Amino acid sequence: MLIGGFQSFTLSDFPGKPAAIIFTQGCNFKCPYCHNQHLWSRSVQHSPHMEEGVLSFMEKYTGMLEGLVITGGEPTLQPDLMRFVSEIKALGFAVKLDTNGSDPQCLLELLENNLIDYIAMDVKAPCKKYDQLCGTAVDIACIRDSMDLIGSSGLPHHFRTTYYPALLGEEDIQVVKKMIPEGSRYVVQQYIPV
Ligand code: SF4
Repeated sequence: MLIGGFQSFTLSDFPGKPAAIIFTQGCNFKCPYCHNQHLWSRSVQHSPHMEEGVLSFMEKYTGMLEGLVITGGEPTLQPDLMRFVSEIKALGFAVKLDTNGSDPQCLLELLENNLIDYIAMDVKAPCKKYDQLCGTAVDIACIRDSMDLIGSSGLPHHFRTTYYPALLGEEDIQVVKKMIPEGSRYVVQQYIPV
């Protein structure tokens, strides 16, 4: 796992659970409002001991922490994500995954192996504006497949859109709302300039 950052404690990122957060290195999107641009490149090298350090930290705080949030970057780009999540689950922690939804196959494998306890997926924009909001060409069929998978997973989850007023209007949010699977929670978060 390429881990580009670690936060040892959060009460606000994993609903109902005190958790730690890891930020994976590498993203296939280039959202113009991204606060984590230092995590875009997969060629940035970090200490090879980072993963080991995260695992031993989690082990040490079993009982105080209940979960680990895996965010990015885009976590599903990590080829050894399944192996890493399995190790975290074996320590007894719940796992929340944040994803941009670009790899439904990876999500399917995680779900089929019962490795995820909560999923949050960004729905960036209406289909016709998706590429613009992601700063790259996006396979919208993959986004749709991920939304369907998550919506029908039976797991706690939510979808969210960052309201970036330079490129999105209120009418766009209304269009995105209609894309959200029935019964799923949907959150619009305001873009905050850095
Ligand atoms: S998907 Fe997330 S991490 Fe990747 S560029 Fe967009 S906001 Fe940044």
